[in-house]
Amino acid sequence: MNLATPWQQRTFQRVLGVLHGGRLAHGLLICGPEMLGKQALMRVLIARLLCTETQGAQPACGRCRSCHLLAAGTHPDYHDVTLLPNEKGVLKKEIGVDQIREISQILGFTAQIGSTIVAAVHPADALNHAAANALLKTLEEPQDGRYLVLLTSKPHRLPATVRSRCQRIDLKLPERDEARQWLQQQHGAGAEVLRALQLAEGHPGRADDMLRHGGLVLFDSVGKDLRGLARGQLALSEVCKHWLDERLAERLRMAVIWVRQLAVEKIGAGKRPHTAFDAHYLWAQQANLVRQQLDTPLRSDLLLADLLHQWADLGLRSGS
Ligand SMILES: [Zn+2]
Repeated sequence: MNLATPWQQRTFQRVLGVLHGGRLAHGLLICGPEMLGKQALMRVLIARLLCTETQGAQPACGRCRSCHLLAAGTHPDYHDVTLLPNEKGVLKKEIGVDQIREISQILGFTAQIGSTIVAAVHPADALNHAAANALLKTLEEPQDGRYLVLLTSKPHRLPATVRSRCQRIDLKLPERDEARQWLQQQHGAGAEVLRALQLAEGHPGRADDMLRHGGLVLFDSVGKDLRGLARGQLALSEVCKHWLDERLAERLRMAVIWVRQLAVEKIGAGKRPHTAFDAHYLWAQQANLVRQQLDTPLRSDLLLADLLHQWADLGLRSGS
């Protein structure tokens, strides 16, 4: 199993060093922005923990029985705790306490292949209150050869008590140069690579996704919609429907970048003072908030209609 990017490899090497030094904790919290490769990092780490052949600061061998069973998804000592579908087949929004009680029990059993049992909880921010409390009890009673791996892009949503009992493994954004070089290896040296990286605010995973899935076209379309609304040329209901139909979270993220760019361009061109754009920055913050609320029970159609209404109002007043 190979890690595709230098930032994943670097982080994994560091963790292997910690493991080799006998300092790896029983509770591990893998954090970092979305789309940077946390899942893959988690998988190679779990493979290494379960591998019965590898010693020292080396990755899993990939050849032993444990490695084969894990790759086949049938390892009896690996337990995946994640969001489950409800009766209608839709994924639930929370990881429940029963799921955690079950793995707490399993971690007390004897391992079937080697001497290690691993449970992974992801996304860990989906743990509900009771589940987080149950997990805390397990974290407080570490046992040899038992690991709990938590993964999240929103560590702030975990109770501080859970966070403080885990060793944190941060997958961080790479430097801009490294991100650019890696992207160019994937997509060539065209100008769109630089534009995607800029629009993704230096996030190579997001820029890669934009380049693979028409993100630059989507960005331009978001800009066109916002401009049309601000000039009263487009109907709010139409734009709302259009955005709700497809890639809403992505559109909101792009709207934030588009609006900030607009403000920066106009301030830079000396057309207006910085304070003339305070309302734009506030609107961008609001758009971010709406995006973060998309996976909550709040109705996204209402949140979006309100947000775009505010934008249209703002645009018409400021002549954006
Ligand atoms: Zn192995």
